[in-house]
Amino acid sequence: MRYGIFSDVHSNLEALEAVLQAMEKEGVDRILCAGDLVGYGADPAACLALLRQRAVQAVRGNHDAAVTGQLDLDWFNSRARAALEWTAKQVSETDRNDLADLELIWQNPDLTLVHSGLHEPEQFHYILNLSDAADSFRSQRTPVVFIGHTHSPGIFIQDGTDLSFLRAAELRVDPRKKYLVNVGSVGQPRDGDARAAWCLYDTGERRIGIQRVPYPVEETQAKIRKAGLPDFLAERLSVGY
Ligand code: ZN
Repeated sequence: MRYGIFSDVHSNLEALEAVLQAMEKEGVDRILCAGDLVGYGADPAACLALLRQRAVQAVRGNHDAAVTGQLDLDWFNSRARAALEWTAKQVSETDRNDLADLELIWQNPDLTLVHSGLHEPEQFHYILNLSDAADSFRSQRTPVVFIGHTHSPGIFIQDGTDLSFLRAAELRVDPRKKYLVNVGSVGQPRDGDARAAWCLYDTGERRIGIQRVPYPVEETQAKIRKAGLPDFLAERLSVGY
């Protein structure tokens, strides 16, 4: 099975289209999204329609939860909050119900999908270091867990009692180890690389690879400005931060 996994679309239609196209080229069988479908960007309804059309299996992110009132807006900084209030007015009742129905965790024998990590997933803790990763590994039951939330890709590896972090783009899965893979962000990368991120997981070849794909950033920025969203949300897309 070739899984295509991405996260943090954040209503960026141009980046989502570029990633879906790249997945098609790679012959992906199943598409998964680790949450934050909306928020920040100018195309929430179009992104939700496209995700639905491609039968993408998603889980709930903190921005998704905020749009449906499942998470308090006080959780967010002022720019994120402004975009969330705007987003709530853009989505239909069907969109809102779909967002509200997203589960926090999705799992099959191959993998687990969760937005922030497996430790208190409803609290949306950020996994920024080995100690944060250890908290999530304690609840990990599948060989690989895919997350997003920080918008910065990288792979945490548990080998017995040893934990390490790899910023590498590609690795072969060792069945004796466990992996916590942050797939980065489609719509708002924050690792200094402006290109959209996604991850290919080939269970047959036991291969995990983080991929990057360019998209027309200026188009996305123009839409954010036209919608009257905070200018910073457009600016940051050029630099991937
Ligand atoms: Zn996010």
